[in-house]
Amino acid sequence: MSSSVSSGVSMQSGRDTETKTVPGPILLLGAPGVGKGTQAKELIKTWNIPQISTGDLLRANVAKGTKLGMIAKQIMGRGELVPDSLVNEMVALRLLEPDTATGYILDGFPRTLVQANWLDGRLAAQPEALPLVAVSIQVNYNQLLRRITGRRSCPVCQTIYNVFMHPPQRDGFCDVEGAALIQRADDTEEVFKERMRAYAALTAPVVEHYRALGRFAEVDGDRPIATIAAGIVAAVERLRHTA
Ligand code: AMP
Repeated sequence: MSSSVSSGVSMQSGRDTETKTVPGPILLLGAPGVGKGTQAKELIKTWNIPQISTGDLLRANVAKGTKLGMIAKQIMGRGELVPDSLVNEMVALRLLEPDTATGYILDGFPRTLVQANWLDGRLAAQPEALPLVAVSIQVNYNQLLRRITGRRSCPVCQTIYNVFMHPPQRDGFCDVEGAALIQRADDTEEVFKERMRAYAALTAPVVEHYRALGRFAEVDGDRPIATIAAGIVAAVERLRHTA
């Protein structure tokens, strides 16, 4: 965090005199399929800070065939969690990038208490950094199942569809690019169940950890995307101004 923005919580937007909250580190918490990635992309528009999705970073490693990617591929395919030390190291490298200076949105990390303690320790070692604010997105189980198993994406423009709730005009093909839509290998019902088991056992305690620390809010994720995003922005603004 640069010293020019760390002493307060407000900054001038580049375009006009509107005062905006300096976002700092934001955690999006919630089960697989609650919409953390979708919301992170909405929040980028508000604050112009990067989304750090450990799922996306791992998938990029798998696609590139790196050593980490080769280890992660099988684990992800089973819906289990990649070892903490590997994920922490990957996040540590990403946080060194200069685009994280005024804040970043963590999506899918931390997923275990070991990861949470590592992140807390890292932030504590930077006294000039703003504290984390955590927002947990809530969606019920059956809705998550439909979201995950119905999810398809365009390999060209990354547009996301849902065969149940937001189907493309032509079955199986992107409305924008016409490309054949793809399904993530771990978006099957069987793997979803394993991901939910991992979430309940390992990640639900992380939510409780941040609830207990304060600077924590819950939002209902079963509403239109823009409504949820507005709720998250309002929660972050409120939590940033809480002593
Ligand atoms: P996601 O795209 O966030 O649903 O993540 C997809 C898969 O990547 C998960 O099911 C895990 O196998 C792995 N993964 C993502 N983030 C983490 C993390 N923070 N710790 C361990 N494994 C992770």
